[in-house]
Amino acid sequence: MCLCDALAIQVFCFDGIGADEYWSSFVINEPLTKVLPAIMPAAVAWAEQMALEIARFGSPLNEAGASVALKVGVVRIERVRILEVDAIPLPDDPVLLQAVRLGDFVGEDSVGLALGYGIFIRKGSVDGRLIAHELRHVHQYEQAGSIADFLPQYLMDVAKCGYRNSRFEIDAREHEVAGLIGLS
Ligand SMILES: [Zn+2]
Repeated sequence: MCLCDALAIQVFCFDGIGADEYWSSFVINEPLTKVLPAIMPAAVAWAEQMALEIARFGSPLNEAGASVALKVGVVRIERVRILEVDAIPLPDDPVLLQAVRLGDFVGEDSVGLALGYGIFIRKGSVDGRLIAHELRHVHQYEQAGSIADFLPQYLMDVAKCGYRNSRFEIDAREHEVAGLIGLS
C-alpha cells in the first residue's frame, strides 16, 4: 500500500531533488512501473555490488553519527559505512541507467544514496539532516531484511506514488530532525 494521499509539505533538497522537480515528483510514473519488474534483479545486483564497495572503502560512523543512527532506529550500527564520492555513481548497464533516468532516482545533483548498510554521500554535502535521512533508509533496509527485500519495494513505491509521496521518503524526511535531537 502506498500513501499517495499523504501530502508532503517539505521542499528541501535532500536526496538531490530540487524545488523545480518538486511538483513533477508527485506524478505516477507509468513507464517506470512497466519496466521495473524486468530490471529488478539487475537493480538489486548493482545495489549489492555498490554496497560491497562502500563496505570496503567507506568509514564507520563516528560517535555523533552512531548516536543519530540509534535515534532513527538502526540496530546494527557497527555495520554502517559512509563513503564520500565526487558524484553518486550510476549503473553502467544502459537498461538500468534508463530506469534510473525515468525515475530520477539518482542525478547529477544527488547528494546521498543508501544501499543496505552503505551510504554514498557526495563530497561537500555532509550534513546532519542528510545523514539522518540516509540512516533512516538504512533502518528501512534493515527492517525489510536485505537489499533484495527492500529495494524492489522502494523502487515500485516511488514509481507508483512519486518520489515525494513514497512512504519510504516520507518516513525518511520525518526522521531528519528527530535524528539530530540532543546533538550539538
Ligand atoms: Zn530518501
